[in-house]
Amino acid sequence: MIGAPNYARADAPWCPVIAPERIAVAIRNGTMAHTELGISRRCPRCGEWYPYDSEFWMSHLGRGYGLHCWCKGCHVEARRLRREGMNDVGHED
Ligand SMILES: [Zn+2]
Repeated sequence: MIGAPNYARADAPWCPVIAPERIAVAIRNGTMAHTELGISRRCPRCGEWYPYDSEFWMSHLGRGYGLHCWCKGCHVEARRLRREGMNDVGHED
């Protein structure tokens, strides 16, 4: 799932700018971590870690850090479940 992003693309992924003290709190809470790819975030829905940028997280401008709290994979899954008429557990913040 993690490949080399092509930053030359017009729709190049972007990373939210997060104050260092907020990152420190998130790392203490176990929701973010420093990795060789930069800041990674744990998806609260599937528990997977992904680099915290728009390539792995849906853009949600104007809220929070500008990215949804769920990874893209969970968004696709939740949309599929909704389409099939199943109520997905948990609430998307
Ligand atoms: Zn997820």
